[in-house]
Formats: sequence, structure tokens, C-alpha cells
Amino acid sequence: MELTGPKSIEAFTEAQQYIPGGVNSPARAFGAVGGNPPVISHGRGAQLFDLDGREYIDYVCSWGPLIFGHAHPRVVQAVQEACTRGTSFGAPTLAETALARQIVQMVPSIEMVRMVNSGTEATMSAVRVARGHTGRDKIIKFEGCWHGHGDSFLIKAGSSALTLGVPDSPGIPRDIAALSITVAYNDIGAVQQVLRQNPGQIAAIIVEPVAGNMGTVPPRAGFLEQLRQLADQDGCVLIFDEVITGFRLGPGGAQEYFGVMPDLTCLGKIVGGGLPVGAYGGKRRIMENVSPLGKKISQAGTLSGNPLAMNAGLVQLQMLTDPEVYTRLEQVSQQLEEGMAANLKKLGLKYTLNRVGAMLCMFFTESQVVDYPTACSADTGRFRRFFWEMLKGGVYLAPSQFECLFPSAVHSDADLEQTLRVHYQALKAVR
Ligand SMILES: *Cc1c(COP(=O)(O)O)cnc(C)c1O
Repeated sequence: MELTGPKSIEAFTEAQQYIPGGVNSPARAFGAVGGNPPVISHGRGAQLFDLDGREYIDYVCSWGPLIFGHAHPRVVQAVQEACTRGTSFGAPTLAETALARQIVQMVPSIEMVRMVNSGTEATMSAVRVARGHTGRDKIIKFEGCWHGHGDSFLIKAGSSALTLGVPDSPGIPRDIAALSITVAYNDIGAVQQVLRQNPGQIAAIIVEPVAGNMGTVPPRAGFLEQLRQLADQDGCVLIFDEVITGFRLGPGGAQEYFGVMPDLTCLGKIVGGGLPVGAYGGKRRIMENVSPLGKKISQAGTLSGNPLAMNAGLVQLQMLTDPEVYTRLEQVSQQLEEGMAANLKKLGLKYTLNRVGAMLCMFFTESQVVDYPTACSADTGRFRRFFWEMLKGGVYLAPSQFECLFPSAVHSDADLEQTLRVHYQALKAVR
């Protein structure tokens, strides 16, 4: 069963000689679904094209950033104009202030913001700032949430959920792992207990306000509000990792969508318009301790605030101030959800569909998915076959059961109809 074209296979074989696994980020290697990934030649709108000339309707959209699809003319123009003036200066430019102002205007809890180059850098820096601000060392995070590849986050729960964390990758010192306490998503009781057992020691609680890295898992009613309350009582910093939800669930992200304000917010993906950008920001009294100010909490970057990236991000955020965009995004996402639900029903299947705004996931399980263990009840073997059926039909999904579909504002009605036709056939084939 080799469904990938010969040119892609040849190119990927060569890539593997020079790059570990042939990829610069492991999920791209298709490890969870097997086989060779198509090697991409170009994209246009919601369409993706591989080296063999095959065309796909893209629901990965670079894992979220491309809310206006590939090569949007305004984003392309912004990058082209910026690069003719020079690609990097390492000195202040107007574009940095313009993007920072745009973020502060859109995201309700952000008063000051610092640009970095990835979501990983944003979360690492936010935790550093929370530690520097509170003078405490430990953090609480949630099982199944992904915050990039920083040492503090690649930690799994110890034998009991409340004991010291243990490394989830070679290369992470045990002493660092011991500072990250992992509890179940949506389990407020566990957070309470950890705070009680570690008085005055927790610097931050970091959470994806809608989990998007174990499929799509919404917060239970009241969960985010209770985290806010507990953080206030304890004096720790509440960090929302909005690298996915930021500008996706609305102009103000999950915090606006749910009406719960964190102390610090991490951004990435959409904020860069498809260029490498991350950002972290929040309350002025906290951000005023980032170097060169206040307590001089260290954080720096040669290419941070890069003018190409700032201009791409800025134009994309400006386009997102048009409310019609979110109306369309909701329409697209709702049509997908309803169409998939109808297909399941026609085939007598009861798989779980989770959706929050433009984050969507069909789990191959009949159980409700509310946290990591319930997400893991999905039949990944069936997903694998389903994934290849979809790809054969020209629909490009993320190559793992534990990823969201990321619809864009430029998926057309024809794209959706085609997607749902293929979805029906794929489900039927793997039933
Ligand atoms: C993608 C992601 C990150 C990491 O961002 P990178 O740009 O890949 O480093 C962090 N947090 C969440 C929630 C993400 O989805």
C-alpha cells in the first residue's frame, strides 16, 4: 500500500540522509500513520500540491497558522515589500510596535508583549518570567497539553499524579522534571491538592484553555474560572497557552471566548501569518520585570521581531479585525461538524466529535473525550486506515488521531462538500 507518489518518495528518501527522519519536526514524518509523507511543492488558498502534482484540500494549514490559507496575496505582498527593505536589523523598527499594538488591542488581558520566534520560546519565556516574578520554582501543567519542546514541559506525571514529574524524553535532567507537576486535564480537584501540598512553591499553572494537542478537548464548564480563582488564592501566575486558540476562537482568543483572564498569554502560529513568530505578554506589572526592565528577567533573541515576520503577522491580524472572517470560520467549522455527524449517523457509527469554534476532531471512540486517558481510548489503527483513505480522496488531515482539523476562512463550500463526500467513503471503507 504505497499511496504516495514516486517523486515524493524519492525526495523524502534523500531528505532522510541529511535530516534526522527527513523532517524538521517529528510529526511530519507520518510515524503515527505509517508510509511516506507527500513532499509539498506549493499551496494556494485551501489547496496543497505535492511534487507529484497531486492536489489536496488542506486541514492542517501548517498546523494552524494559515487562517487565510496558503499564499494569501496580502500576506505575500507584506513579506515581499518588507524584504526589499532588508531582512533583519537587530535594532528597533516600526513593524514591531505595530504588531505589539495590534496584539494589545485584540487580546483583552495583554498590556505588554514580547516577540519571540516560536510557540516553544513563548512558553519557555513565560514560565521563566512567572518564576522570576514569584520567586518560586515549580509549575503545574496538564496531561495531554503540549507547550512545545522546552525542558519543563516534556515531563510526565510520576507514579502517583501528585508526586514529582519524570522526564518524557532522554536529555531532560531529573532535577528539572521534578519541578513540573502534571495533573489530568479538567481535574480541578487535583490542582487544588497540588497547591495545598506545595504551599508558596508553585510559580505558575500553564494550560491550553482548549486542549488542541490530544485532538480537541474543551474545558469543562467552570474549569478555567476555577483555575483563575485558585491562582489568585495561591499567588501563582495563570498562563494560558493560546498558541492554537489565539486569534482562532475569536480576535481575543480563548480568554475572550470564555471570559476568563490569565496573567500571561503565550501566542504563536496565527500571530506570525505563517512566518516563525511567537509572543508572550500580559499584565504590565509582570511584563515590566522582563530585561532590560525591573528585575531584569533574562530573555533575548537575535531575530526576534524580524521585519518580514512582523509584517506578515500584522497584515493577518488586521484582516482578522473584520468580524465577517469569524462568521465564515464558524460556518465552515459548523458545516464540517454537522456533515461529519450526518455521515456517522448514516453509517450507524457513534464516534465522538469534539468541536470548539474552528478546532475540530473526530475520535474513533464512542466514549466522551474529556482528558488524555479518554482521548487514548480512540482506535488509532482505524484512524490510520481512515487517514490514508482521506488522503487518497484528496483530503489532507494531520497524520495523527491526536490533532485537530484546522479549517480556514478560505475553505469554500465546494471544498466542504468534497471533504464530506470523501469522509463518508473513508468511514465506510474502514467501518
Ligand atoms: C504548537 C504549539 C506550541 C509550540 O509552538 P512551536 O511554534 O511549534 O514551537 C506550544 N503550545 C501549543 C498549544 C501549541 O499548539
